[in-house]
Amino acid sequence: MKYDFSITRTTTPKQKPDISTVTFGTSFTDHMFLMNYDPEHGWHDGRVVPYAPLSLDPATVFLHYAQGIFEGMKAYRDPQGKVQLFRPDMNAKRTQSSSKRMCIPTIDVDMYVEAVKTLVRVDQDWVPSAPGSSLYIRPFIFASECFVGVRPSNEFIFCIICCPVGSYYKGGMKPTKIYVEEEYTRAVKGGTGSSKVCGNYAPGLLREREIHELGYDQILWLDGAEHKYVEEIGTSNAVFKVGDEIWTATLETGTILPGITRDSALQVLRSWGYKVCEKRFTIEEIYEAYKAGQLKEVFATGTAAVISPVGELFWHGHHMIINNGEIGETAQKLYDELYGIQTGRVEDKFGWIVKLDD
Ligand SMILES: *Cc1c(COP(=O)(O)O)cnc(C)c1O
Repeated sequence: MKYDFSITRTTTPKQKPDISTVTFGTSFTDHMFLMNYDPEHGWHDGRVVPYAPLSLDPATVFLHYAQGIFEGMKAYRDPQGKVQLFRPDMNAKRTQSSSKRMCIPTIDVDMYVEAVKTLVRVDQDWVPSAPGSSLYIRPFIFASECFVGVRPSNEFIFCIICCPVGSYYKGGMKPTKIYVEEEYTRAVKGGTGSSKVCGNYAPGLLREREIHELGYDQILWLDGAEHKYVEEIGTSNAVFKVGDEIWTATLETGTILPGITRDSALQVLRSWGYKVCEKRFTIEEIYEAYKAGQLKEVFATGTAAVISPVGELFWHGHHMIINNGEIGETAQKLYDELYGIQTGRVEDKFGWIVKLDD
């Protein structure tokens, strides 16, 4: 093997959860992957070990200054029972760009993908096969040097953990209610919005809690400077079908997380002949399209739900009800295509699938 990651198997395997009832992200497999970085050895000592708590010095720099990044990806079981990954090289590349932004030494794409495969091979019995289910994979890197002071860490830990997850849509795909945020900000030009950095997420929690109390599911974030331009929905990208066109926020502002599901969805939509516009557009334009009866569909794209249809957008006192609060045909077709490719039920025309045995 190209990378000699060591494997230490658990002697006390856990009971697997009931996949039809398990809550997303609460049940973890028997093993985890760890690898360390220091300036002398570079990234070294990659290993699969039994899943266990990490012991950290209270001065671990990540705990204070959040110098850390993460990823989210999935492994799926195909109809023959074989396990496959969806575009893992894209997660590896995005990790590299997030790493650069956060002064974290990069990991080779091949090494990263091999680390994921090695862990999933050891825990492959944990990859569920029920419809809609998958193994969610959470790789992350954090600053592990111990000191108090703001400077880049010289030591890091790369860790991967996995959770078996059931169908995101228990009881069918239910369109979400979205609150368009006009006050708080997720990302600004020059900030870290285009990287999956740990510190991007906790600042949104306060508003999320408030909008949940108002009966909304997620926030649609607008640009940080003017709160005019449409950016993202929660931890997913936002896509609009306006007339026959597909609109989504351009990545050029540097404030949008370049979703792998977003990229895949746009490629599929283009292959179906849709005119896909990656551009800056305002929520006002969306409201005008709505009033003119041209806002046909809204949906979010992300690894967790793949495609999540939006049934209502609340902005500036206006309740925009999208497609009667029902799933649109484009969203449904796109979900069937992407989830079909991910689970080996639809031909992988784009070459996105990586088999665990490859
Ligand atoms: C992870 C994430 C996405 C979706 O990315 P995928 O690669 O499609 O899972 C979108 N927006 C934000 C802010 C995210 O953190």
